[in-house]
Amino acid sequence: MGTTWSVDYFGAPAESVRPAIDGALENLNAQMSHWRDDSILSQFNNAPAGSWLELPCEFFTVLRFALKIARQTNGAFDPALGHAVNAWGFGPKYTPLQATEPLWHRIRLDQATRRALQPGGAALDLSAIAKGFAVDHLARLLDARCVNHYLVEIGGELRARGIKHDNQPWWVAIEPPAETFVDEFLIALHDTAIATSGDYRRSCERNGVRYSHTIDPRTASPTRHPIASVSVIAATAMAADAYSTALTVLGPDEGLRFADKHNLPALFLLRDNRAIQSRAFAQMLA
Ligand code: AMP
Ligand code: MG
Repeated sequence: MGTTWSVDYFGAPAESVRPAIDGALENLNAQMSHWRDDSILSQFNNAPAGSWLELPCEFFTVLRFALKIARQTNGAFDPALGHAVNAWGFGPKYTPLQATEPLWHRIRLDQATRRALQPGGAALDLSAIAKGFAVDHLARLLDARCVNHYLVEIGGELRARGIKHDNQPWWVAIEPPAETFVDEFLIALHDTAIATSGDYRRSCERNGVRYSHTIDPRTASPTRHPIASVSVIAATAMAADAYSTALTVLGPDEGLRFADKHNLPALFLLRDNRAIQSRAFAQMLA
């Protein structure tokens, strides 16, 4: 996934937990990494038009949820944006921009046989959601080992259960982007997840202009909102991850309306030092 991870927990010996985590992450990478030519995702992307591929259940679960968020956000979240991501230099290889027409809605899923249809030319990129899923996956792995107190983190997406060794809740800080003067937000994570999207950690510069790694599918170009980051709190890290990316695409105005309509706790940190909280976020802090 091109990032780091950490798992903080107590209630089981590390010798039994560590190999299980390594194995689980390796398995998810082998399924959904677009950096590996031999991943199942790469096989889907390279499959000829009209082919139905059987997917492992984790991959199928992520793709089904990604398509649901794509529908719900009217395509602002687009899991089949791989060509545009590559064209802007954020993907595994450079490919010139092809069709700008969205392809996600042509992908079909068959729940009964756990197969997905490659409609032709759809390049899946699950980077905006797979990290969150992997966090949930590790949380379930710990649950299954009767570990009731943990904080799981992959690339800044977090999920916590129980309390810390010192009886304190798992406090996490929403880091203010370096060039802003926004106060740090401290959140106690109780059986919930938080994810953050934004360009303050990943972006590229061309001719002195900074480009976000989040692509607006409506233009097939990087988003241009004055957003430094968007954080979303949800029951699962997969939902938090997908929605934080979606709200980054929608921008502060439309994104806030969406968050309020769907009762999502969301925090937008803007480059002009404003911190905009959705209704549910403000209620949570109160
Ligand atoms: P995140 O950090 O979770 O917001 O994910 C950002 C990554 O998701 C980017 O580096 C791209 O690989 C991919 N991506 C970019 N734009 C979108 C989009 N509109 N919908 C879904 N995934 C995207
Ligand atoms: Mg995301």
